[in-house]
Amino acid sequence: MTSSNLATSSETIVRHYVAGQWRHSSSSDTLTVHNPADGAVIAHTPLSDVQEIDLAVRAAHDAYAGWRSMPAGDRIQPLFKLKMLMEQNADAIATTITTECGKTLAESHGELKRAIENIEAACGVPTLMQGEFSQDIARGVDEFMVRQPLGVCAAICPFNFPAMIPFWFLPYAIACGNTYIVKPSERVPLTMQLIFELIEQLDLPPGVLNLVHGGRPAVDALLEHPLVKAISFVGSTSVARHVYATAAAGGKRAQCQGGAKNPVVIMPDCDMDTATRIVADSAFGCAGQRCLAASLAITVGNGRDQFVDRITDAASSRRVGNGLDDDVDMGPVITSQSRDRLTHAIGDLDRGGAHLLVDGREPAVDGGDNGYFLAPTIIDGIAPDHELVGCELFGPVLGLMHFDNLEHVIEFINRGSYGNMACIFTTDGAAARNFRTGVEAGNIGVNIGVAAPMAPFPFSGWKDSFFGDLHGQGRHAIEFFTQTKVVIERWPKVWSRVF
Ligand code: NAD
Repeated sequence: MTSSNLATSSETIVRHYVAGQWRHSSSSDTLTVHNPADGAVIAHTPLSDVQEIDLAVRAAHDAYAGWRSMPAGDRIQPLFKLKMLMEQNADAIATTITTECGKTLAESHGELKRAIENIEAACGVPTLMQGEFSQDIARGVDEFMVRQPLGVCAAICPFNFPAMIPFWFLPYAIACGNTYIVKPSERVPLTMQLIFELIEQLDLPPGVLNLVHGGRPAVDALLEHPLVKAISFVGSTSVARHVYATAAAGGKRAQCQGGAKNPVVIMPDCDMDTATRIVADSAFGCAGQRCLAASLAITVGNGRDQFVDRITDAASSRRVGNGLDDDVDMGPVITSQSRDRLTHAIGDLDRGGAHLLVDGREPAVDGGDNGYFLAPTIIDGIAPDHELVGCELFGPVLGLMHFDNLEHVIEFINRGSYGNMACIFTTDGAAARNFRTGVEAGNIGVNIGVAAPMAPFPFSGWKDSFFGDLHGQGRHAIEFFTQTKVVIERWPKVWSRVF
């Protein structure tokens, strides 16, 4: 790293990056950030107030006129450099992700790769942002549409992908000519602070990219600020609803990705060993803290026994520990409160006939006494009306259900309130086709366990997993971060002969 700001300690108070300057927050209210693997204090996040957010918004607003008038081909040049800097500093960024978020180093590197892919996709803006032109819509009259940026836009991000999720939006926003503000989750402020140290090296005009920290007051200040034109939110459904409603009431564009409860269906004809390995990775990878984690595995017909035995083995043999250690498959959950919430939810399961098949509540983790560990947990026999069915636990807890036929499974899935992802494991093309056609979810996997769209595709949640119409990533992001302007043009003295 070229910057020395990477080292963190219990004294580190993360800073804002506003108008091209690092600034200490004026707020005395802070949240203590812990390393979830050992409970050590690694930083403090300032919980900014309205005035601090206002400073950032004004800085972004001041930068807007100059930035939007720069040619698109010039606006993407800093993104090429950012991709290079992020690749060169991948180890430092991945280590920071693991240290504050808990996932394994391999998972952190995977997340970072997804962030960089979005930078690459956004570099297509000179083409992706092109307009449309119709010559001679009437004699001597032409009509065309151009895309223009919106102004100041902002991202409000969750804790579980501190590097990737801001990049579903940020590179597209600035490539399209907007200026931008990122507010990371107050629980994982260090990764974006580190990435902004790289952004500082891009020599962007001051105010084009800004970083602010905080919790609800900071979010509400962004939502209520008249100079903010668009909000991208990712987090839990209840907050997504609040953000969507407040942004819309203020006349802002909003795209709000919410929570999930993702079913994966195991057909009896599938390759059981492969399906089990993939479902275990989906359910327990990132300690189950992925919005695309499999949380309900549904076996159909006589595949039940084969799958239950295999998934039990897969869960029991997963190595839990500090994500920085080489031989670890799964790290801790984000906070002690999360671990306690999950532990209580597991303890309350007896109601409704469900039973624990694998109990991860007392994991044996070397040196992990102070960490927030919960080992993979499997609950079998969940009835369609069990309270767990509609409840996002967001931890390494997989529920098992059993149905007689696929038609009933699809009806069951479609009764659910979320629609982030649904997957099927099968060798039967017709079953796969009926599933992907009939299931009400925005991201579908066929023999895939985490159906995470690549950067050129929209991250397509449905129902209570998404509020808005244009999603993050790809062409949807270009449309979200631009407004169309249509021009109908007639020039007098048009020659009667057209060459
Ligand atoms: P969260 O909703 O608690 O927080 C998300 C953001 O909202 C944070 O920046 C936080 O500061 C802010 N916030 C929290 N409470 C708020 C309030 N009352 N008012 C205004 N702002 C508030 O979510 P989280 O725990 O950080 O992340 C986990 C959730 O995110 C899960 O539900 C997960 O499914 C979801 N998620 C969804 C996707 C997706 O693409 N659909 C991706 C990742 C995570």
